[in-house]
Amino acid sequence: MPIIASNFKTNHTRKSTNDFISSINEYLKSNDIKSEVYVFPTATSLNDFDTVKNLTVGTQNAYYTEKGSFTGEIGTQQLDEFGIKTILIGHSERRHILGESQEEIAKKYEFYKALGYTIIYCIGEPLEVKESGLENTLEYIYEQFVGIDTNYENLILAYEPVWAIGTGVTATNDDIKNVHTAIKEKIDKPLLYGGSVKVNNVREICEIPNVDGALIGTASWIKEDFIQIIDNTK
Ligand code: PEP
Repeated sequence: MPIIASNFKTNHTRKSTNDFISSINEYLKSNDIKSEVYVFPTATSLNDFDTVKNLTVGTQNAYYTEKGSFTGEIGTQQLDEFGIKTILIGHSERRHILGESQEEIAKKYEFYKALGYTIIYCIGEPLEVKESGLENTLEYIYEQFVGIDTNYENLILAYEPVWAIGTGVTATNDDIKNVHTAIKEKIDKPLLYGGSVKVNNVREICEIPNVDGALIGTASWIKEDFIQIIDNTK
């Protein structure tokens, strides 16, 4: 059964997040959906959500600390308050816009691994690497596993080509199949695809060999669309 995740990025308020999560919860409660659904709201909208078993709320980011002097960051003291035990690590926007290095990412990974968090770990190549061929793409992606224990039991991977994120350009089925198959040969963990997944292509993408679900940004922010995405892949 697929894993379907929504990444809000810097969207939604506390009020609209509550409304979104309670709608998804109601939908999952009243329909026989086996998919595992994740929602990653902004830090200010985290809460102690009362959700069904197959709906998990996680954090898009947090620092590798319980608490301390890390201006603008949150740590596990804040996450514990809401029972959050799931985190996105390595998202391309954190790597490329916010400048997180592989070393920082690996520290964060180790910290949250030691606490037993479910980690959705993102990898993916920029356009110039993709254009230089599959071999270079895979080499680039494997560099993003430096310092990462890929045997960790609560690890979910997300292949998100940078050039496909938020651009409306989805990778071709062959691009996805080739990269997913190569990663899966090395790392036997659930592997999601992310990058301009939409209501009308999610089913086809989830049927590609070695694709275990989708991590979705833009197309998941309207609750009716996200419900349709879950429904299309159930
Ligand atoms: C993402 O942010 O993880 C993502 C896949 O975004 P989008 O669906 O908008 O490309």
